[in-house]
Amino acid sequence: MEQRRELERGRRAAEAPPWRARVLVVDDVPTNIRLLARVLAPEHDVVAATSGAEALRLAELQPPDLILLDVEMPGMDGYAVCRRLKESSATATIPVIFVTARTDEADEVEGLSLGAVDYITKPFREAIVKARVRTHLELKRYRDLLQDRSYIDGLTGVPNRRRFDEFLARALAGAQRGLTPIGLLLIDVDHFKAYNDSLGHLAGDEALRRVAAELARGSRRETDLPARYGGEEFALVMPGTDADFAEAAAERLRQRVQELALPHPASPTADCVTVSIGLACLGAGEPATPAELIDRADRALYRAKKDGRNRVRSG
Ligand SMILES: [Mg+2]
Repeated sequence: MEQRRELERGRRAAEAPPWRARVLVVDDVPTNIRLLARVLAPEHDVVAATSGAEALRLAELQPPDLILLDVEMPGMDGYAVCRRLKESSATATIPVIFVTARTDEADEVEGLSLGAVDYITKPFREAIVKARVRTHLELKRYRDLLQDRSYIDGLTGVPNRRRFDEFLARALAGAQRGLTPIGLLLIDVDHFKAYNDSLGHLAGDEALRRVAAELARGSRRETDLPARYGGEEFALVMPGTDADFAEAAAERLRQRVQELALPHPASPTADCVTVSIGLACLGAGEPATPAELIDRADRALYRAKKDGRNRVRSG
């Protein structure tokens, strides 16, 4: 679910304008919602909620790109809603603009201290609402884009080590909570130093890109995460995968890299670029930390190397 949201966010962030954002308008008075919706609907997709509880439910279900939040509402007021939004990781980064009839500076300060990005006073002026909403949506779009970039390995275009670490920790916690298995592959390009030494670093970079592309192609399931682990090492996290499935996936990947037939004149293993793969799987409910799972895969990788490379070993 989270992975899908992330992909969706990445896709939307990368989309060229005109880009229709989803704006959630929260107000206990339907007339106010209609007024704001009329102003915003030509440029954005507007979703509405008439209470704090409904707003929180909608925001969790399908996080909007921006929330216009009325402060004075019966039951849970806007400040309380904002506090709750900021507490949940699914909604914490959604920009919130308070809309209120209060013009007191202290109120404004309180709203902003809760993490709201802006404050609009009622009765609002159309041009102001439009401009502020547009500004904050643009800022969010660039923030999302930057965050996506900071998770991508510049050379190969697959997720980087930082992304891998965060994803593995979350996926592992999820597997343990949900009592599902999880598989991890560590993939190492055989004799990569010799490859660089004989063909040069540009050829080395290209080989890494080709291997990464095979890894990404082989992990079509949107729940899997392919990543560059470091240097000539890659990883594949496979939530919900048992040992047999992971081993078959690893073997397919090993074959596909070999079938790329990238000539490797300095390899004692084969005449082309090959990979060794170490695999570790946790059964449903089996406890382990990310470091322990990585260590198991790493030891399996070491055995794959020791047993002659260009092979899969599991540990
Ligand atoms: Mg109100």
